[in-house]
Amino acid sequence: MTTVVITGAGVVGLATALLLARRGHEVLVLDRDGPPPDGTPDDDALRWDRPGVPHAGHAHGFLARCVRVLREDAPDVLDALAARGASAIPVPFGPGLEADAALLSRRLVFEGALRRVAEAEAGVEVRPHVDVRGLVTTGDGAPPTVRGVRTRDGEVVPADLVVDCSGRRSQAPRWLDAIGAASPAEEHHSCEVVYVTRSYRVRADREPPGSPVPTLLWLPYGVLLFFGGDNGTFALGGALSRHDPHARALVDGPTFERVVGAVPPLAEWLEVSEPLTDVRLMGGLANRRRSLVVDGAPVVDGFLLLGDASIYTNATFGQGISLGLWQAQRLAHVADRIGADGDGLVTEVEGWSDRTLGPRFALQAAIDAQRTRAWRDGIAGAPLPEPEGDWRILAALGALGQEDEAAAAAAARIMHLLSEPAAELADPALGGRVEDLLASGHRFGGQHGPLPRARFETLVR
Ligand SMILES: Cc1cc2nc3c(=O)[nH]c(=O)nc-3n(C[C@H](O)[C@H](O)[C@H](O)COP(=O)(O)OP(=O)(O)OC[C@H]3O[C@@H](n4cnc5c(N)ncnc54)[C@H](O)[C@@H]3O)c2cc1C
Repeated sequence: MTTVVITGAGVVGLATALLLARRGHEVLVLDRDGPPPDGTPDDDALRWDRPGVPHAGHAHGFLARCVRVLREDAPDVLDALAARGASAIPVPFGPGLEADAALLSRRLVFEGALRRVAEAEAGVEVRPHVDVRGLVTTGDGAPPTVRGVRTRDGEVVPADLVVDCSGRRSQAPRWLDAIGAASPAEEHHSCEVVYVTRSYRVRADREPPGSPVPTLLWLPYGVLLFFGGDNGTFALGGALSRHDPHARALVDGPTFERVVGAVPPLAEWLEVSEPLTDVRLMGGLANRRRSLVVDGAPVVDGFLLLGDASIYTNATFGQGISLGLWQAQRLAHVADRIGADGDGLVTEVEGWSDRTLGPRFALQAAIDAQRTRAWRDGIAGAPLPEPEGDWRILAALGALGQEDEAAAAAAARIMHLLSEPAAELADPALGGRVEDLLASGHRFGGQHGPLPRARFETLVR
C-alpha cells in the first residue's frame, strides 16, 4: 500500500483519489477551500463557498467521455448524481455506443456528489482548509524525487506520490524551481474571451419549453448558450471577445436578459423561469499544456500534474472535466507502479497525455486562434468566418449531419471525446462525403447568425 497526496479537491482531484483508493492506495486530498454544506443540491450550487474554483458558477456541460470514465470505474458516482437530480441525456452516437450519454448538472452539484462518494471511500481522506505551498524531496538525485508537500502552516505531509490537481492556477513551476528541478515544458495561448452565465429555474407553474440539451448559437462576434442542469435548473450565457466594448455590459441583469431574450430558443426558457443568481462574468482564460517531460526526460520523479494543472483548455468545447477524468483513469490503470523505484510514471502519464489528449488541445488552440480573430472582426460587423483546417472538417461533418445520421453521429462522437476526426474520416463512405462537400466549394461562413451585431448593440445600449 502506498500513500498518495493530492493537492486540490476539485473534480479531477476527487476523481483521482477515488480511482486510486479503489486500487488499494491510501489517498489524502488537501484543499484550501471548505467542504460543501450539508443540504440540498441548491445548497451545493448556491451556498458552497468556492473561491478556489471561481468558474464553478459558470455553465458546465458533462461530455460522454467523463460519463464513460465514471461508468467504467465508479458507477456509484453516477447513481449518486442521479439521486441529486442530475440527469443523463442520450445522444445518438451510433451503433454500439447506446450506453454512452452526456449529463446535465450544475457544476457544484456534480462536484458535491463526487466529493461525498470519495469521502465515504475507505482509503480517501479529504482535508479542507489546507493550503499547499511547496514540495518536499528526498536525497539529492537528479531529477529530484518528491516525497511530500509542505503546507502554509509549515506542516510536512509525506507521500510516495504527489499529484497536483490544483487547477489552472497551479503553482507547479514555482514549486519545481524551489526544489531545483528544471521548468516544465509549457505551451500557452491566451483566448481573449469573456464568459457570462446566469443560472435559472423553471417556475413551478410552468413547463420547460423544450429539450434541455445544451445549445450553442454561434454569432460572428461571440456565442450565446443554453445548458440544461439538475432539478429543473438551467444556465443562459455566452462569450464575447474581451475587446468587445459591450462585453462587461452583460453583467447588468436587465441588459443580459434583453440580449438572451431576443434569441429563440433562449427566449422561451427565459420566459418560464426565475433567476437563481446574478450574472457572473469571467475572463483571462487560455489554452495551456504543461508537461513534466522535457526533451524526452522527466524533470522530476514522484510528482504528477493532472487536470487543468496539466492540460487546461478554453471552455467553448466543454471538455476540461472530461480530459481531466480521462487522465485520472489512465493514472489509476498504471497505479500499481506507484512507489516502485524507477516507476517511470511521469514519462508514462505525460506520454499518454500527449498522444491521447494532445490532439484535443491542439484542435482547441487552432480553432480558438481563428475565433479570436473572427470575433474581433465581428465587433465591426463582419459575418461568421469561413473555417480553416480541422475546423473546416468539423464544420463539414456538422453540415452533413443536418440530413445524414452517420455524419451526425460521427460529429457527436468527436465532440464528446469518444473518437478522433482522423478515425472518423478513415471510413471511406463518410470520408468521401466530407471530401465531396469540401471540394464543392461549400461556404460554411458568411451569415450574421441569430443576433446580428447592429441589433445586439441596440439591445445593450
Ligand atoms: C467559464 C468556464 C466554463 C467551463 N465549462 C466547462 C464545461 O462546460 N465542461 C467541462 O468539462 N469543463 C468546463 N470548464 C473547465 C473545467 O471547469 C475545468 O477543466 C475543471 O474545473 C478542472 O478541474 P481540476 O480539478 O483540474 O481543477 P479545479 O476545478 O480548478 O480545482 C482545483 C482545486 O485545487 C484547489 N487548490 C488550488 N491551489 C491549491 C493549493 N495551493 N493548496 C490546496 N488546494 C489548492 C482549489 O481550491 C480547487 O478546489 C469550464 C471552465 C471555465 C473557466
